[in-house]
Amino acid sequence: MSASRSASKPLRCPICGKEAVDAYRPFCSKRCADIDLAKWFSGSYAIGGREEDEGDDPAAKEPSQRPNGEDEED
Ligand SMILES: [Zn+2]
Repeated sequence: MSASRSASKPLRCPICGKEAVDAYRPFCSKRCADIDLAKWFSGSYAIGGREEDEGDDPAAKEPSQRPNGEDEED
């Protein structure tokens, strides 16, 4: 967490290896940034959305307290 670190040496664009520019860090241009973004997207597509976390939780099936427990017969 040190914010007093100015760019001492130029970053290299991970896509093409050119010198990165501030506007598109760490990329050299929007084009390379887009390429990297596309990579991420295709990557997440390959993994597949794992949003099957609902309905399969045993804890969710646990019977909660009865909403109306004032039906006592004496
Ligand atoms: Zn680049």
